[in-house]
Amino acid sequence: MAALEFLSKAMVIKQGAEARVYRSTFLGKPTIVKERFPKRYRHPVLDEKLTHRRTVQEVRSILRCRKAGISAPVVYFVDYTSHCIFLEEIVGSSTVRDYIASNQQSGSCRQQDLEQLAERVGRILAKMHDEDVIHGDLTTSNMLLRCSPENGECDLVLIDFGLSYISAFPEDKGVDLYVLEKAFLSTHPNTEALFEKLLKSYTASSKKSPAVIKKLDEVRLRGRKRSMVG
Ligand code: AMP
Repeated sequence: MAALEFLSKAMVIKQGAEARVYRSTFLGKPTIVKERFPKRYRHPVLDEKLTHRRTVQEVRSILRCRKAGISAPVVYFVDYTSHCIFLEEIVGSSTVRDYIASNQQSGSCRQQDLEQLAERVGRILAKMHDEDVIHGDLTTSNMLLRCSPENGECDLVLIDFGLSYISAFPEDKGVDLYVLEKAFLSTHPNTEALFEKLLKSYTASSKKSPAVIKKLDEVRLRGRKRSMVG
């Protein structure tokens, strides 16, 4: 109840089908709170179980990433009664989506920056998959760039692990990349070569990548067949 009372004074920044996202201050720190609310169309016992599991999985994946040196928000507090996760707000960040879009607009002179970023994303995802973390919703909106005003260096932070889980299966990792490929190419037109750079860097960064890329190719083929039939 204390968490819900806290949220009554926080600002809603996103209302999704499964969760509400708030911005607030917790113990003096800028904080994002993700609240999973009950779904009336589900049986209450099943709903409680599913919601609990998703909250546990989200926290577990974030902690696994952070332990491996992959930037993700600090988890400040979790309330398993109201299904709220209190996370570090990545202050002053912009999404990779906005970064790519604004660089594409400004012409080819920034191509090198984009390629470096794509390679960096590939390396981080390889590291995440080597930890057996499947993100479940990889998009360029779920990657934030936090740049230091002092030296201009940027940190790439992964967010929104709401659909994540732990799996060592190459197929799960291949599907994770496929989801990103679909989102990437539809959000950023004419970036096939850029996405290939990302995949090349993923391949070079992970010893387990051949099996994952093989699965990615299979999923792509299945996707193509399905769209031909449809
Ligand atoms: P989510 O449902 O986790 O994707 O969050 C919705 C939106 O809130 C994201 O698209 C971001 O713009 C923002 N957001 C989520 N988590 C953070 C965070 N830790 N720091 C800053 N912004 C965030």
